[in-house]
Amino acid sequence: MPPFHKRQECKADGRQLLIYGTQAHTQPLKKAPPPLPFQPNPHLRWHPFRQEWVCYAAHRQDRTFKPPVAYCPFCPTREDRFPTEIPFDDFEVAVFENRFPAFHLQAQGGPELFAPELLIPSAPAIGQCEVMVYSAGHTDSLGSLPQLRRELIVRVWADRYRDLLALEPIQFVMPFENRGEAVGVTLPHPHGQIYGFSYIPPVVEKMQQAFREKPVLQDLRQMMGEQYDIFTDEAVVAFVPPFQRYPYEVWLTTQAFHPGPWTFSDQETRSLAAALGKIIRLYDRLFDQPFPYIMLLYAAPKGEAQHFQFHIQFLPFLRTADKLKYVAGCETGAGTFLSVMTPEETAARLRHIESF
Ligand SMILES: [Zn+2]
Repeated sequence: MPPFHKRQECKADGRQLLIYGTQAHTQPLKKAPPPLPFQPNPHLRWHPFRQEWVCYAAHRQDRTFKPPVAYCPFCPTREDRFPTEIPFDDFEVAVFENRFPAFHLQAQGGPELFAPELLIPSAPAIGQCEVMVYSAGHTDSLGSLPQLRRELIVRVWADRYRDLLALEPIQFVMPFENRGEAVGVTLPHPHGQIYGFSYIPPVVEKMQQAFREKPVLQDLRQMMGEQYDIFTDEAVVAFVPPFQRYPYEVWLTTQAFHPGPWTFSDQETRSLAAALGKIIRLYDRLFDQPFPYIMLLYAAPKGEAQHFQFHIQFLPFLRTADKLKYVAGCETGAGTFLSVMTPEETAARLRHIESF
């Protein structure tokens, strides 16, 4: 593996900025005008019917919404141009605290987070929300980036998992990517996010229970045979779950058990990185357009590394070239997904797309 460099800086408003690269990053930090104050105070309220927390982050309403390319906040800060989130001429991968976080850690010595006193249970929304910019190139994607960059991205995920899970309040870390306007993306610059939760969210709680009872993913792989595989190599497998909820849903996991990418061998890092690129190029070829999806990384919550197997889920938002998959009445109201395509059809279709 090439070298792995990490540079840690503090932005003018106090937020952490990390620059990762295969080469050491030594550019001087560009001076910026005084920043807007950064004092988020999100809070949680308990939903007694759904038995889950709802997060309130009112400041998120001020988020940057579809800025023109010249004002993209994730591009490098160019000479004589407005200061972006990344005060350098160039970078490989950048990670920084979200300016509009849904969760926030109590800053040392800073004001305490608080929740309003209500008739229902409430709590400060403690956690961490980070933005991970994959490239300085505004129009790149996980599929079009060079393999070496995708490998770096997998290693950055491993590093973020290690750092965030080491924090006392953090119980579960979820990197994810929303891609495309259909999924509500307001900034097209290639990026993902990383949320550190101070509790186990409901979807993960069920998953955690399933893994505690038996090796549910390994059992599934054994039972399925190759019928649902899209492609495999000695380290990873991409397949359609035989209970897919979204059209063209694909899961990606390692052949060997891993709780998260922090225990990968170099070969597994390389294979997973190559597979990420393949899946996205395959999706983009499916309807000859950038394919909208949600990509979710599920690694073991704190204390669950013995059972919980790392995997990635791709949940696409297109049924056909011009028809969106809506999560509508039955899905939202009852939690029961309706699908017009069977997983067998999905697997057959995706397996036969060539040149990806
Ligand atoms: Zn950009």
